[in-house]
Amino acid sequence: MSVSPEDRDLIYALALDNAVKYGGKPSKGAVIGKFLHLRPEYKPRVKEILPVIEEVVAKVAAMGPERQAEELERYRHLLPERPARRAEEELPPLPGAERGRVVTRFAPNPDFVLHLGSVRPLLLSYMYARKYEGRFILRFEDTDPRTKRPRPEYYRMILEDLRWLGVEPDEMYYQSDRLELYYDVARELIRRGAAYVCTCSPGEFSALAREGRPCPHRGQSPGENMSMFDEMLAGGYGEGEAVLRIKTDLSHPNVSVRDWPALRIIDTGKHPHPRVGSRYRVWPLYNYSCAVDDHYMGVTHVIRGAEHLVNEEKQKYVYMHMGWKPPVAIHHGRVAIPDGVLSKSKILAGIRRGIYSGIDDPQLATLAALRRRGFRPEAIRRVVLRGGLKASLMTIDWSLLAAENRAIVDREANRYFGVKEPVPAWFPCERELVARPRRHPSDPSRGEREIRVVPEEGRAKVYLERGDVERLSPGTQVRLIALGNFRVAGVSGRGVELEYVDNDVERAKREGLLFLHWVPRSHSIRLDLLYPGRSYAGVGEGNLLSESVDRVVQLERVGFFRVDSVSGGSVTLVYAHD
Ligand code: GLU
Repeated sequence: MSVSPEDRDLIYALALDNAVKYGGKPSKGAVIGKFLHLRPEYKPRVKEILPVIEEVVAKVAAMGPERQAEELERYRHLLPERPARRAEEELPPLPGAERGRVVTRFAPNPDFVLHLGSVRPLLLSYMYARKYEGRFILRFEDTDPRTKRPRPEYYRMILEDLRWLGVEPDEMYYQSDRLELYYDVARELIRRGAAYVCTCSPGEFSALAREGRPCPHRGQSPGENMSMFDEMLAGGYGEGEAVLRIKTDLSHPNVSVRDWPALRIIDTGKHPHPRVGSRYRVWPLYNYSCAVDDHYMGVTHVIRGAEHLVNEEKQKYVYMHMGWKPPVAIHHGRVAIPDGVLSKSKILAGIRRGIYSGIDDPQLATLAALRRRGFRPEAIRRVVLRGGLKASLMTIDWSLLAAENRAIVDREANRYFGVKEPVPAWFPCERELVARPRRHPSDPSRGEREIRVVPEEGRAKVYLERGDVERLSPGTQVRLIALGNFRVAGVSGRGVELEYVDNDVERAKREGLLFLHWVPRSHSIRLDLLYPGRSYAGVGEGNLLSESVDRVVQLERVGFFRVDSVSGGSVTLVYAHD
């Protein structure tokens, strides 16, 4: 039994993969092991395949890292996909969780869209509810019509983000529908002597709190507090003139925990709420409505970022005063994304100043932007869940996300030629040439694409990539993929002059020629390529016009892109990753 060409290619792909992972030196042992695992039929004849493996490993070792990486891109599809385990199976057990009894929630403020940082609490909460066959709640925390002003489009976009991620809430609530409940609990807290209406200015109150001293209102009777609270509701106080405070511990080490404010007045005449207009003037602050809702919604496990640790301290007082059992709270580490701008105010300022084209600008780490670039929810899920519940900071590297996504889209993406920064090249040619590269290198059933090179006045004209042209000098031989091997006759400001040599692909590989992508002038369309922070007006092969919006394609040697628009004779692609 000799080694079939397909299996030889598989050995080549395994050696490349191993070399790229381990600093350029493929390990013969590792390649043999992996190959026999995938093709056990060779096991009785290891001796026969050894020389082939040795030859391939030596060839890959001699290549140099850049070419190894390039070749790996072309052969990666031959490698088996990692078995996709169901994400929730990989999660560690949740403390105190019982099958059928877990209730989790995700509680976004609809004052902005979701981004990579939001995905960790969201997916963990959702996955744990699924793992334990419990319930998952989506709760819009929209109780700040003034500073964290909710906007109708953000409620909608958050739902779209969830749908895209495959997250289906079992129940959905809007806090702006629940103000009467917050008032009822406030009255009960007042009756229990656990809350009081305070009319100190914020400055006066915090000066006293810093010293651990009570403000004059702390000693009011429940009756006095009740009538002041009714006065708040009736409009007897203006914005900032009165708050309802929860009694805590005036010697609590964290000053902000000392008698924190639960409800305050917002002039909804000036700042109407997008859902309930100016019907209410007394609005709960986050810690209060969150505690009340987690209790009434039966939440058993709260999973959120470490920035909420102090909030847990605060919320516990509501539970204590009311005699409720607090949920198990788990605070995972923050999510950091190098170069990823996640701050709402920075993003909105950037959009106003024209630095970003919108919420889905490719520079951003919003889910809308990732969606637009062709990242798949599954890739995001895999990366985010890898951090699990750990309390340490989690860094999501773009390269990590790209690797996960590549493993998914590589199989489905059709291949095309596209040139970012075109430089003209030409060679003597009398008759029409047709190149027929495959739509997908490892899936012949998808057929070939046809690229016609029609000469004009004895010359064929093609476009090459500026970055490639910079590496050429007279005498160099290059391969134009699927067309032939050429010698560079001259490079000038006008372009590159080529001469056809032969079409021997094996020789090109053996001699390590540079493999170039190219686009013939006779079969080119305008290609707009949107990269994070910059765009290119390039050219692409005309076959790109048959793609449809939302599909992911690969421009060979350039990268993976999502089709953003196909119109008239031009195509816009948004860059995902190499
Ligand atoms: N609305 C809060 C936030 O987005 C929810 C925090 C929590 O999960 O308690 O930060």
